[in-house]
Amino acid sequence: MIAEVVFNLPLERSFHYAVPEPLRAGLQRGMRVLVPFGRRELMGWVVGLPARSPIKELKPLRRAVDPVPVIADERWVLAEWVSSYYYCSIGEALAAMVPSGLRLKFAAGSGLGAGGNCPQPSALSPEPTLTIHQQQGLRRIIEALDAGRPATLLVHGVSASGKTELYLQAIRHCLAQERAAICLVPEIALTPQTIERFRDRFGGLVAIWHSRLGARQRAAEWLRMARGECRVVVGPRSAVFAPLQRVGLIILDEEHETTYKQEDVPRYHARDVAQARARLAGAVVLLGSATPSVESFYQAARGRIGLITLPERVEGRPLPRVDLVDLREQWGARGRATPFSAVLRRALEQVVEQGDQAMLLLNRRGFARVAQCQGCGLTLRCDRCSVPLVYHAGRAELVCHYCSRREPLPAVCPACRKGYLRLRGMGTERVESELHRLFPVARIARMDLDTTRRRESHRELYEAVKTEQVGVLVGTQMIAKGLDFPQVTLVGVVSAATALNLPDFRAGERTFDLLTQMAGRAGRGARPGRVVIQTYCPGHYAIQAAARHDYGGFYAEEIRMRRRVGLPPFTHLVELTVKGTSRERAQAAADALGAALLVRQRSVAGRAGITLLGPAPHRIPRLRKTHRVCLILKGASAAPLVALLRRTLQPGRRFKGMPVVVDVDPL
Ligand SMILES: [Zn+2]
Ligand SMILES: [Zn+2]
Repeated sequence: MIAEVVFNLPLERSFHYAVPEPLRAGLQRGMRVLVPFGRRELMGWVVGLPARSPIKELKPLRRAVDPVPVIADERWVLAEWVSSYYYCSIGEALAAMVPSGLRLKFAAGSGLGAGGNCPQPSALSPEPTLTIHQQQGLRRIIEALDAGRPATLLVHGVSASGKTELYLQAIRHCLAQERAAICLVPEIALTPQTIERFRDRFGGLVAIWHSRLGARQRAAEWLRMARGECRVVVGPRSAVFAPLQRVGLIILDEEHETTYKQEDVPRYHARDVAQARARLAGAVVLLGSATPSVESFYQAARGRIGLITLPERVEGRPLPRVDLVDLREQWGARGRATPFSAVLRRALEQVVEQGDQAMLLLNRRGFARVAQCQGCGLTLRCDRCSVPLVYHAGRAELVCHYCSRREPLPAVCPACRKGYLRLRGMGTERVESELHRLFPVARIARMDLDTTRRRESHRELYEAVKTEQVGVLVGTQMIAKGLDFPQVTLVGVVSAATALNLPDFRAGERTFDLLTQMAGRAGRGARPGRVVIQTYCPGHYAIQAAARHDYGGFYAEEIRMRRRVGLPPFTHLVELTVKGTSRERAQAAADALGAALLVRQRSVAGRAGITLLGPAPHRIPRLRKTHRVCLILKGASAAPLVALLRRTLQPGRRFKGMPVVVDVDPL
């Protein structure tokens, strides 16, 4: 007996091993096994049990890791799709589909016992009455579910328009069809309220899937899913691979969020994987957002996917009034630099006096973004990455936000040894300290990566705001997501252009999303909300449209720009990052790769329309001492670009000995 095994390595091929006698009865395709590989022992995946092998002397595999296959059904084809679309090996795709460290422990032979019984939610908590738009939307979803064919529907609903209720009732219908549902959320720790609502509605049928589960809990939840004991899974992007059978519905809440894109191999986007899985399972995909990605809205505008619109908030609540404050006019004002314009300060005073709640957004953490010498002008940078160090006042140190390196703030400039260091560019810590100075009696809290590192800290902060122990919450984009506090009557954006300065064609989209999401936090309760947005670019179309709650206006402007310059959704991009220990070596390999791509592209018929951009330095040319040079391939679809790469790159996704990071549809 022979086992064909693949590994979580950038190797396109599989390897054969002999199966020793004791393992022969139980070994199946889809199980993980431990095998000798060179001098190491590696975990691999059994992808086949061929009758014979061209190799004479096969090494025996050592033992099986799993008592049952951990990959089954349509997920095999899904793995092949991930591997071919995103240019990774089957082993790399399979590894992404099963949580690392998953150890299933139960008697072999007891199996998964996928019984015919299909548990239904026992006592449904009462469902609220739907608005007319919700009813129309639900009818469309139910029609699609009943048709039993793959379909995608985009739910474009303004903030507080009741998207979650629509999901819940769609899931109920899916369960009644004896099918299962997956609901993806951008980040599980940031969505306590959504989880509460799922648990209330479906009780023990819900599995919550996230990376902070312990190994044992994780195995238990995985088994409950595979055995059909729970039939609704709520989780982050990796839950798109949940081992559920008969999946009927896959929901992506806040489908525009960047966390749906995986940053390591395979660099998949959960939206595209969900649609691929739905095609295989005959399932319906629901994409929900107040600010749909330009890609998704374009598909809906072209009629390729369905569109459900929820244009009003529930209970007829108005969208908040938005005031733009031009920060350029503040330059003339005398006195010390402050995060608050007169307008925002007055609005804050009012909130504090009335005992309401306010949320303040500044999407930069730390105290000061730059430490610069007043003598020689030197900006202190990380010596391993090409980025300035950020000053954190809490521990009085400089921190690299890319490699986490820390060092104390020097008393004088380390270069000229006489200049004092001036701290410029404010972050959330600075806003918090200004608030304490201006409003000594207010209850102020900060929510960003620095204050939520501990496992329970996000939850504790959330509870403190919910129970109104916190009056003013300062934070990064973390506070813009999914939080529903009815007492918040003021939302302030300290600086709205932080993303616009990035060399990223999606900067306008990101800014519009963040401002719209943030504005959506205000006035969710009985009292109307107000939003104050401070910005240096009040004329930018993304900021103007956000201030008018005008997705249509933003989209029209954005899609015109994308069409004019040939960017997604009109094209697909593949980003190649060549890494090297020296700038010269990385550059030389990137130049050679660019030349090779051009030669091959010309020699292959039907490859017309592929454009090569670069080589050019990466946005952060040096990270953790590694130099990076980028190339971008652009074409009408991704497959020919990947095919060209497969012919050009060397085994292990290298070129001239240098590793090449391949990112299909990069964000
Ligand atoms: Zn100096
Ligand atoms: Zn660094």
